[in-house]
Amino acid sequence: MKERIYLDYAATTPVDPRVVERMLPFFTGTFGNPSSVHWFGQQAEAALESARETVASALGAQADEIVFTSCGTESDNLAIRGMAFTQRERTGAQRIITTPVEHHAVLHTVEQLAELNGFKMDLLPVDQYGMVDPEDLRHALRDDVALVSIMYANNEIGTINPIAEIGKLCLQRGVPLHSDAVQAAAHLPMNVVRDQIDLLAIGAHKFYGPKGVGALAVRKNVGLHPSQTGGGQENGRRAGTQNIPYIVGLAEALKLTVDDLEARRQRYTARRDRLIAGVLGNVSGSRLTGHPTERLPNHASFAFERLDGNHLLMLLDAAGFACSSGSACKVGDPKPSSVLNAIGLSQAWTLGSLRVTLGESTTLDQIESFIEVLPSLVTKVRGAA
Ligand SMILES: *Cc1c(COP(=O)(O)O)cnc(C)c1O
Repeated sequence: MKERIYLDYAATTPVDPRVVERMLPFFTGTFGNPSSVHWFGQQAEAALESARETVASALGAQADEIVFTSCGTESDNLAIRGMAFTQRERTGAQRIITTPVEHHAVLHTVEQLAELNGFKMDLLPVDQYGMVDPEDLRHALRDDVALVSIMYANNEIGTINPIAEIGKLCLQRGVPLHSDAVQAAAHLPMNVVRDQIDLLAIGAHKFYGPKGVGALAVRKNVGLHPSQTGGGQENGRRAGTQNIPYIVGLAEALKLTVDDLEARRQRYTARRDRLIAGVLGNVSGSRLTGHPTERLPNHASFAFERLDGNHLLMLLDAAGFACSSGSACKVGDPKPSSVLNAIGLSQAWTLGSLRVTLGESTTLDQIESFIEVLPSLVTKVRGAA
């Protein structure tokens, strides 16, 4: 059987076996409902609160500021919807400032608030690397802003935003800041106090935790309309019986990640830089997308001139390499990446994106064989056009 090489860790990661171990008892033995008064409930409640403390300390937050959700997408939705409605009630503010390179969990949420609920969406420009210039935000922060939502690090092109500067500006103007840190939390030290982030969203499956569980850090002084109503779980911010095994898994995965952050950064950076040099050196009409240095340590992304990126992905898959375009489009119906449009790439480039993201089991040998195989596949795709 051909070796299959997974290079799509920004899409999802396998669950760390140590995380699985921690989760298992909570499916059967410790199965209680944490809202129950009896012993079974209290056991579950203790696990829940201990997970909450672990997550809080990993994010520089207080335990009662952590809300568990069903995924990163839900955390983004809860933050944006919850805050937009709260702020409008409080101040009448209607504008939501965000960027054109956000994940759809953010962009489509703000778009819907604009379409159905009378909010106004303001898109900040981003530079050629997809980075926000705090000066642009400063000018956009007029009086009628309900909320700012700017991602910590970009999933498609890996660029890290100057989020602490952004946080400072928002604090000065008294406008709440939400940041989608679903990619960033896997690789960068998070601290909501240092960065002045009011609402920080994470999802476990990007850092070797299970799919279907996420968290939102909500700073104490910040009010938030629940987007899911029912029981009073999660301090009344997210109704529904908590998924204890998955929450325990999220906390364990985050703890393991944070403990190993610096070592991982070093392991990844060397391989990533070899990958970037190898691709740019061996493939004509190629360029790096996203920032050359202010980028996630495991993240390489490229654009190729005059190339159908999805066709390339298929050939890579057939050759045993699992990669991504970073954007969602179908073979035969190529659509330009809106992120690549936003960073100013011309039509000749926006169809040919490739994202290669490294993980714990990625070896230098795998990188070398990827670099070896890629040029001929690119030539083949260009020849077929
Ligand atoms: C994966 C991802 C999400 C969505 O998280 P889910 O847990 O899959 O819902 C949101 N934002 C970013 C930046 C992501 O990478």
